[in-house]
Amino acid sequence: MIRVAILGSTGSIGQSALEVIRRHPDQFQVTALVAGRSGDALAAQVASFKPRLAVLADERVPLPVGDKVTNWASGRGAVLAAAADSETDVVLNALVGAAGLEPTLAALEAGHRLALANKESLVAGGELVLSAAERGSGEIIPIDSEHSAILQCMQGHDPSDVQRLVLTASGGPFRGRDREALWDVRPEDALKHPTWKMGSKITIDSATLANKALEIIEAHFLYGIAYERLDAIVHPQSVIHSLVEFVDGSVLAQLGFPTMELPILYALTYPNRIEDVALQTYDPIRSSPLTFEPIDDAAFPLFEIGVLAGRASGCAPAVYNAANEIAVQAFLESTIRFPEMADLVSGTIDRIGNSAVTGVEDVLEIDRSARLVATEVAHRLGKARVGVAQ
Ligand code: NDP
Repeated sequence: MIRVAILGSTGSIGQSALEVIRRHPDQFQVTALVAGRSGDALAAQVASFKPRLAVLADERVPLPVGDKVTNWASGRGAVLAAAADSETDVVLNALVGAAGLEPTLAALEAGHRLALANKESLVAGGELVLSAAERGSGEIIPIDSEHSAILQCMQGHDPSDVQRLVLTASGGPFRGRDREALWDVRPEDALKHPTWKMGSKITIDSATLANKALEIIEAHFLYGIAYERLDAIVHPQSVIHSLVEFVDGSVLAQLGFPTMELPILYALTYPNRIEDVALQTYDPIRSSPLTFEPIDDAAFPLFEIGVLAGRASGCAPAVYNAANEIAVQAFLESTIRFPEMADLVSGTIDRIGNSAVTGVEDVLEIDRSARLVATEVAHRLGKARVGVAQ
């Protein structure tokens, strides 16, 4: 029996993980469920899965009444305790944003397998995450479909034989539009992803292609591959999840119907596989043709800005990540327009500059400062636009 703690259980990935677990009661047992502030949704999951621990990160939300099986707790300390709980084998981190960093570190330091959906952890604190894994003997198994694909293609191969990793991107709902045509898109348009159903933050990241930059940085840390050997291409059908090119020119790809349940199941059972008849299989004829395009950097500059931040290393990826989180929120609240998200992120990176990161406190401090600066830039952009309109 694999004992699983799910951080972010009320979100899109968290709910998919629980669906997978529900179908395999003989394989998995839920030990802890953690949500941000959705007490009612968490209480319903607790009634169904009966974990030992249930945690709400937000202390201001009243805790539902407990029962004999489940201990309820709230606050940041309780989230970290759930991530480090010794009666757990796998911690599935499906929190959203840099809030996932400390739980990632706690799970790895406790020696757990970390099934990682929260890519922002690796972007904001890549080096720290790798050293936490080494210190605590924890291991990271990615849930992102692209990184799961790479992991699957690399099985049985020497990592030094890898020449290049190519991540695929759906291109999002605005694929094919130029920058001018993106000024008038509304949050509700950006939230309509063509191939994946996901939480709102990653859906906007997919529309701007910031998500692909976050994933390039994630791949750099997960697989130790230099940035010049990491590429991304647009593949609108989302069937090929990534390509691994080896030194002899041979290329392996992993294909599958676009559902997150498959990489979630693989992260839980890795390196083994178990049968799951509920998962839709890939049909080559129905999915035909499979097509590929380059990323349009002029229309979607957040991709290149993010990759440059990754290459710059130091605190630059954490600043990019924090500024991007504020940009997404400002766009969703209609404070700024779609193309202004890139202006906000690059303006924040310019104002903060780069510096070395030596510990988690540095990352948390940089994250806080970048959010403050980004919020100011968002207000300035919003005000300038109102001024122009008058
Ligand atoms: P959602 O927004 O759907 O869910 C986020 C979850 O995190 C919710 O349970 C939420 O709780 C909880 N949460 C939010 N903030 C905090 C906090 N400060 N402390 C504790 N809990 C918090 O996100 P997704 O499931 O879409 O994405 C989760 C992660 O997985 C992201 O990093 C994303 O990039 C990555 N990912 C997602 C994919 C997808 O298909 N959705 C695909 C690949 C990667 P509450 O409901 O109470 O607010």
